[in-house]
Amino acid sequence: MRLSTYFLPTLKETPNDAQIVSHRLMLRSGMIAQECAGIYHWLPLGLRVLQKVEEIVRQSMNEAGFLEVLMPTLQPAELWEESGRYDAYGKEMLRITDRHDRRLLYGPTAEEAITDIVRRFMKSYKDLPRVLYQIQWKFRDEIRPRFGVMRGREFLMKDAYSFDLDAESARETYRRVMHTYMVTFKRLGLKAIPVRADTGPIGGDLSHEFHVFASTGESDIYYDKAFDALDLKGDENDLNQLMNLYAMADTMHDPKNCPVPQEQLNHTKGIEIGHIFYSGTKYSDSMKATVMGEMGKQIPLESGCYGIGVSRLVGALIEAHHDDYGIIWPESVAPFKIGLINLKKGDSLSDETCEKIYHTLLSQGKEVLYDDRDESIGVKFSTMDLIGIPTQIIVGPRGLKDGNVEIKNRRTGEKILCTLDNLYQRI
Ligand code: ATP
Ligand code: MG
Repeated sequence: MRLSTYFLPTLKETPNDAQIVSHRLMLRSGMIAQECAGIYHWLPLGLRVLQKVEEIVRQSMNEAGFLEVLMPTLQPAELWEESGRYDAYGKEMLRITDRHDRRLLYGPTAEEAITDIVRRFMKSYKDLPRVLYQIQWKFRDEIRPRFGVMRGREFLMKDAYSFDLDAESARETYRRVMHTYMVTFKRLGLKAIPVRADTGPIGGDLSHEFHVFASTGESDIYYDKAFDALDLKGDENDLNQLMNLYAMADTMHDPKNCPVPQEQLNHTKGIEIGHIFYSGTKYSDSMKATVMGEMGKQIPLESGCYGIGVSRLVGALIEAHHDDYGIIWPESVAPFKIGLINLKKGDSLSDETCEKIYHTLLSQGKEVLYDDRDESIGVKFSTMDLIGIPTQIIVGPRGLKDGNVEIKNRRTGEKILCTLDNLYQRI
């Protein structure tokens, strides 16, 4: 991609309505633009990151054998009346009436919709267990939308739903999802801690939230200091270790009954990036979702609900990976892997060399953003730092005299001189 023909509306000034660093950096780097309160446009750079995050989530779910579906954003009110949540959900639900006065709503979540599908098409114990998921936009009319995409009103969520024959197998599925989450967050370049959570309005008796630590997080978390020393690889062993560590949100943490001594605890702020629930037969009871059991009896389905905040993750990633100059993307979600900077546009040797490097990298399948604009060196450096591309290749007449270009590591700031011949090996 050539920056001269790209759409990257970066801002020089820090937007003063943005309170946290990820919100500021997303606006400044031209990733998003606000449409109205809690609702954002995703511009080309931001969309690339969102899609990468989405794809990592999708791949990990697919590898676990979970099945993707796509349900509509709009749902009929009647389904929610069946489960009893239509009135209970309150003002966060955006209610819509169509031209025939039918009552619809923009889905804040989809337990009812998926339970309806399952009760219509899964009839036998042989159809279970199954985990179905989607990656779809949700709407919640949050009372205080803030922090950009962190607490939006319209936001992208991965929501999965499991259906099992009995409680034991449902708990086993819950564990499998938990493991999948650890793999997902690891791939995204995040260290996430599962925290025991309140089951709230979804019901059931087992629930975890996944948090990344950040001073700007909205949740208070108490956790065993041993977590900080863990080097998580995303395997079964990690899961066992994590399950045995104490971690609670403040609403659940009771210092008097805490099994871990006070001095063994850390208190910190966290961003909730995922939330999983074992909900038992709550929905299958109210919505009459049963399958024929082996003995010919109708059995209510055991279910679980599992969310990941895909658009929130983009903000959380920036909270975890930035410095004074801007974003520092982990490789896996970087919108481009390489930023190519032409220091002297118009200098024929620089132009030719950049073109050659650009095309060679493209032919190797690399994602390159080539700054070929007629701008000052300062502007080019600060733009590339701001948008966080992990590796920069800097090309200018002075280095080229000796056949050299520079490679800069955005994270460490380390620069190395490299001959043109060595360049492709080095990156
Ligand atoms: P929160 O406590 O942050 O409001 P929640 O408990 O209401 O979250 P869930 O219903 O469990 O969230 O939704 C699953 C995931 O969707 C959350 O873990 C979070 O990552 C994301 N999410 C929830 N609400 C929002 C929002 N308003 N904007 C962006 N992401 C959200
Ligand atoms: Mg909420």
